[in-house]
Amino acid sequence: MGSRAGPAAPRADPAYNPAVTESSCPFCRIVSGEAAATVLHRDEVVIAFRDIAPRAPTHILLAPCRHVSSVLELGDGDGPLLARLFGVAADLARSEGIAENGFRIVANTGPWSGQSVGHLHFHLLGGRSLGWPPG
Ligand code: AMP
Ligand code: ZN
Repeated sequence: MGSRAGPAAPRADPAYNPAVTESSCPFCRIVSGEAAATVLHRDEVVIAFRDIAPRAPTHILLAPCRHVSSVLELGDGDGPLLARLFGVAADLARSEGIAENGFRIVANTGPWSGQSVGHLHFHLLGGRSLGWPPG
């Protein structure tokens, strides 16, 4: 029986199991409730919480509830996850009052980007003018 008949088919890779969490991962610990965070949104697939060291007046992190290491681990079946992540980001941008002036969504990926937490997350930054290009 083929288990990879299409993008939405269940995958054997444990990284694609929504139940997977990693006890050593700081964001999995927030998802599980073992670590504290200021959580602004949570559903079955996405969590959003305030960054502990904000770089802008609004600095929120959006992450999948399952452990995904980075953008590089995403596949075709992750369309719904990404839609939810960006939908929640847009809702939070509106509720934080940064939608009108504008904001930035960033996913640092790999050492040269400065990614410091190996659990996929998008930074939602706003509340001030943001420089471009980024440093
Ligand atoms: P990055 O460097 O792109 O991987 O982003 C990781 C972000 O996570 C940084 O902006 C950190 O300030 C933030 N961060 C790390 N630990 C926590 C935590 N326990 N709660 C909230 N934000 C955190
Ligand atoms: Zn994790």
